[in-house]
Amino acid sequence: MNEAERNPDADPAKAARHAARMTRKKALIDAAIAAASDERGLLLVITGNGKGKSTSAFGMVARALGHDMKVGVVQFIKSRTDTGEEAFLGKQPGVEWHVTGDGFTWDTQNREQDIATAERGWAIAARMLADPSYQLVVLDELTYLLSYGYLDSDLVLDALAHRPAMQHVVVTGRAATDALIELADTVSVIADEKHAFRAGVKAQPGIDL
Ligand code: ATP
Ligand code: MG
Repeated sequence: MNEAERNPDADPAKAARHAARMTRKKALIDAAIAAASDERGLLLVITGNGKGKSTSAFGMVARALGHDMKVGVVQFIKSRTDTGEEAFLGKQPGVEWHVTGDGFTWDTQNREQDIATAERGWAIAARMLADPSYQLVVLDELTYLLSYGYLDSDLVLDALAHRPAMQHVVVTGRAATDALIELADTVSVIADEKHAFRAGVKAQPGIDL
């Protein structure tokens, strides 16, 4: 390996080409940033089979609280109330946190009960989606209630579509429906490349709960 290969900056021609590329790139990025001038409430959907959907949503809760925004969180499906996110974020001033689940459908084995629970949770969410004082609303694991048909999809999509203009909403959960994806502004699909659970590791505090 010669000096130019070891350190590209030592090759003046290569360094000049790199500098020109970066100048062009910066101009393109600056133009794109300048063109993005809209400001409105966004609907984000974080879906897919990989780990990181709910934690992404809670990361945005932390960001919003850093801006002194008022945040509402409704956790559907889940029944555990010993999570780190609830213990920490749920206690912060400016957050209203609700855990409304009974567990997954294979835990409850009772569709009637699941529907009743879903409707109770949805009533809280619908109240937040009608109130402009909530600047960020997280509907954690809402996708399952649509894919299992526990909630009326049109009712939910209508409430999301007609929420206050500046309100941000984050919906998480696997298998987001096409209609929800269509309505959303930002959609991330997290892929499951590997998960420690399949190597026999139990849920770890700080990582999984
Ligand atoms: P997290 O809450 O960690 O961001 P998530 O919201 O993406 O995860 P969920 O489907 O809600 O994923 O599952 C929550 C729990 O299941 C977490 O403990 C998470 O680590 C675990 N989990 C997520 N994806 C997988 C997977 N592909 N295989 C096994 N366990 C998973
Ligand atoms: Mg989740």
